[in-house]
Amino acid sequence: ATASLLAEFNGTGTTADGHEVPLLANVGGGKDAEAAAKLGAQGVGLFRTEFCFLERDTEPSVEEQAAAYKSVFDAFPGKKVVLRTLDAGADKPLPFLTDSTEPNPALGVRGYRTDFTTPGVLDRQLEAIALAQQQSEADVWVMAPMISTAEEAARFASMCADAGIKTPGVMVEVPSAALTAEAILREVEFASLGTNDLTQYAMAADRQLGPLANLNTPWQPAVLRLVGLTVEGSRAEGHNKPVGVCGEAAADPALAVVLTGLGVNTLSMTARSLAAVAAVLKTVTLSEAQELAKLALSAPSATEARAWVREKLPVLEELG
Ligand code: PEP
Ligand code: MG
Repeated sequence: ATASLLAEFNGTGTTADGHEVPLLANVGGGKDAEAAAKLGAQGVGLFRTEFCFLERDTEPSVEEQAAAYKSVFDAFPGKKVVLRTLDAGADKPLPFLTDSTEPNPALGVRGYRTDFTTPGVLDRQLEAIALAQQQSEADVWVMAPMISTAEEAARFASMCADAGIKTPGVMVEVPSAALTAEAILREVEFASLGTNDLTQYAMAADRQLGPLANLNTPWQPAVLRLVGLTVEGSRAEGHNKPVGVCGEAAADPALAVVLTGLGVNTLSMTARSLAAVAAVLKTVTLSEAQELAKLALSAPSATEARAWVREKLPVLEELG
């Protein structure tokens, strides 16, 4: 049964009543992107650009960067590719951008914040993205990691505009960004929830520490509430901006249903999870997904949230 359920995947995410949830892939470079396209991804929801340069001691040139970005864009002609600007720091140090002596790297100069201490690198990256975009047919969206305030979002949007990039966005992975999503989304065109870091920061639990794994799950009702607040902010009066999820949460089929019920527009995940997520989504209607989201939000713990939702999704047993 598992094999046939998964074999039915035709590249789209749709609920039983026809509500579409584009399913996108998380990639780290051209090879990943080609593999994701073969597996049926409708585009890229998170291109982790820092993965192209983890081995580098020095900043890659604009031309070198443009070539790396183009290799991903070329795997998805005419499709959406959401590129994330360098997310250096904490679990992903880049020698040319980060200071390895920081006492608290997860709370340090990481992601967008590296522009405070090493100005110029982000501008040159945006220049490289614009160059790669001109040479390809992908629909390129660009987002900054670790945005904490509307002021930062506005500044990033203006840097993108200066570089000729038309679709700027932010990752929502710091609780302050979820809480101020309305103001942030006035400044940019879209948001993508990074549930890995959002969970780490909401629960004050290092995402790399095994003993904290029980705290560190996106099934935590507190995390789901932050997702809900972000969606609410995105639909505030006067605007209606798309919100995706690109953290590991999107790859958990039961959680993908909950996220859809919370109003998330797109789900981006490791490509090998696409078929399972699609198979589960098509067994529920949008209003059933909304009921499951309410159920998860009302649970007293992450364990119960997960168990209660899974119990209502019998297809999970078939998927094993
Ligand atoms: C996240 O934080 O959820 C995310 C998608 O980014 P990363 O895992 O690369 O930090
Ligand atoms: Mg992150």
